Amino acid sequence: MKITDIQKTPSFGAACRHWALLKIITDEGIEGLGECLGGQSIDRLKHALIGEDPTNVNRLHRDHLWQMQGMGAGVEIALWDIKGKALGVPMCDLLGGKLRDKVRMYCDCHAGTYWTKEDYDRRWAEVRASGELDPVYETGAYVARAKERVAAGFTALKFDLDVPNPWKMDVYDRSVSRRQHEHIVTTIEALRGAIGPYIDLSIDLHGSFNLIDGLRICKDVEHLNLLWLEDPIRWEWGNVDALAKICMQTETPICTGEIFHGAKLFRELMEKGACDLLEPDIPRSGGAIETRRIAELAEMYHMSIAPHYMASAVAGMAAVHICSTIPNFLALEYHSANIPLWSSMLNLKNPIQDGYIAVPDAPGLGIELDETEILRHLPEGSALWS
Ligand SMILES: [Mg+2]
Repeated sequence: MKITDIQKTPSFGAACRHWALLKIITDEGIEGLGECLGGQSIDRLKHALIGEDPTNVNRLHRDHLWQMQGMGAGVEIALWDIKGKALGVPMCDLLGGKLRDKVRMYCDCHAGTYWTKEDYDRRWAEVRASGELDPVYETGAYVARAKERVAAGFTALKFDLDVPNPWKMDVYDRSVSRRQHEHIVTTIEALRGAIGPYIDLSIDLHGSFNLIDGLRICKDVEHLNLLWLEDPIRWEWGNVDALAKICMQTETPICTGEIFHGAKLFRELMEKGACDLLEPDIPRSGGAIETRRIAELAEMYHMSIAPHYMASAVAGMAAVHICSTIPNFLALEYHSANIPLWSSMLNLKNPIQDGYIAVPDAPGLGIELDETEILRHLPEGSALWS
């Protein structure tokens, strides 16, 4: 089998998410679905892959896809789709077989409301002008959202608490004022009170704070049994020791890793005890090959992985196959509750049921696009593939 063409869709989506898909076409009539990520051009992809055998995923990964980082991982998904279809087996079988029939999803709820980047910037400007906390960031709004998501069947939630607020003393300094600290801690307390002791709760701080104030938050919520607290300090590569210092001084579990590509960048985090859980992004951190390497390494350090994921439902179903094969898998992120297209873009409608996605049994990814539905979200007259 040979790759004969690669096509991509225009960017589509809603709110803060813009997705683009790719399709690998072969001379045997089998096509593989993947996702366009990162800055790689489709021409470079074609130059590298046309004429190659798509079924030797390992070789293409080593020769071409590894250097393309997230884009390479989006292509790798399509190769597994082709190989599964060629052999008549689901992608998870190509990875050695599934350990579970359905994959647990945790719901990323943002704050008391879902937001776009534009909303977020506007709210910071408004809050600075008014001196008032926007109602969507009040504790009651968080509690209402948490109850709604638990009622929808999720057993694990995540909220952001580094939000626009009138108590930040300086635009650039990463200190947390005492009043902001109080809002963060009391909101987490209210969330725990609202959902009870048995729903898992995580908090994301997006690396917004300095070390001492990030540590203070971790220590002051120890009694609330968080599943994890994510990125209390900035995530740039180069100061793993600072994160290790936080980790050593608090019982609150620390999770990080959403921006790193490849297992080697996760290794130092584990070696230095700089986190308790890892969140490799599927597919930014890697496709099946690299994500499984990260998970295997994590298991040697007695750690679970809870993959980060914000891409479309195509990469999402690939993530479901991958996660179904990983022993130390905790939960996969669902970040699109405010984007109905995520649930309607495939032949499998509303794939999340009671907080889980069933692993598809059909060959390859086991999905088909609902092209009519996606075209409805593109400008009239647009071609889906080019
Ligand atoms: Mg995060």
